[in-house]
Amino acid sequence: MLSSTAKIDLHSHSTRSDGKGSPEQVVTEAVAAGLDVIALTDHDTTSGWAEGSETAKRLGIGFIAGIEVTTRASVINDEGEGQRFSVHMLAYLPDPKNVELQSELTDSSESRRVRLKKITERLSEDYDIDWDAVEVELASGKTAGRPAVADAMIKRGIIKAREEFFEFVFPGSKYYEPNRGVPETYEAIRLIRRAGGVPVIAHPMARGNGPTPGQPMPVAHFESMIEAGLGGFEAYHRDVPEHVTQWLEKMAFEHDLVLTGSSDYHGTGKPNRLGERLTSAANLEKIISQATGFAAQL
Ligand code: AMP
Ligand code: ZN
Ligand code: FE
Ligand code: FE
Repeated sequence: MLSSTAKIDLHSHSTRSDGKGSPEQVVTEAVAAGLDVIALTDHDTTSGWAEGSETAKRLGIGFIAGIEVTTRASVINDEGEGQRFSVHMLAYLPDPKNVELQSELTDSSESRRVRLKKITERLSEDYDIDWDAVEVELASGKTAGRPAVADAMIKRGIIKAREEFFEFVFPGSKYYEPNRGVPETYEAIRLIRRAGGVPVIAHPMARGNGPTPGQPMPVAHFESMIEAGLGGFEAYHRDVPEHVTQWLEKMAFEHDLVLTGSSDYHGTGKPNRLGERLTSAANLEKIISQATGFAAQL
């Protein structure tokens, strides 16, 4: 049983995707930060689970195995126009041996590399950067993401920090290329459920990717996700604006969904600190009670 005062952080990244520390380091740092439970949620991979869970067992901290699944939503907005945007879907405790899930993750990872090559090519027209330099950053099987290009440009002295990179390589900028080979959002939700996992949308409408206060909220899109099997929202995250958090709280209450709070820790790759947002024991218990794919380690 979890104590009601347990400190629980359900979103972190290691070197298996774009975090700066190994799974062992992330879990070790979680202990140092005073956490009782840490979830490792690398982008589109389960490859860090074994090392993370072994370290957690050795150090006496709870471990929740997760994935941050990259998905693409295709929705029709209120004006009747089709819109596409990226949605990160946290998957807690799915079965890592689920063939359908793993094959989707493999496809996503391959498509991420192709996409990163395109971004790198476009950048190479204006900056002294090339794919060889980026590949060095993608050591043995880690999930390819924009931070790897940022790190290569930092090494070349073109920029000083990852944050700077995201000021000119964002959706809509001339260097950007979306992840096209990833599952559609509603499909991903159903797939995570079929694999016994619990889908929780990561940082919903973060960083201005949503209505401003007073504008209508995307009710239909959220209701479709809930119908597909969405389990909850990461309502407490540094990039989720306050008015969105309040709307998510209301939606979660109405639909009996889980609310989580997490740091989205990337080590030194991002300012986010472990434990800066937390999930309540009751909400974690709700996630665990729905999961049938993989055991929580408490
Ligand atoms: P990608 O998966 O290739 O689209 O890259 C997105 C990743 O970059 C996410 O995991 C973010 O955590 C990371 N990221 C986004 N914005 C920033 C930022 N301003 N500074 C550092 N990392 C960022
Ligand atoms: Zn990341
Ligand atoms: Fe994310
Ligand atoms: Fe993340």
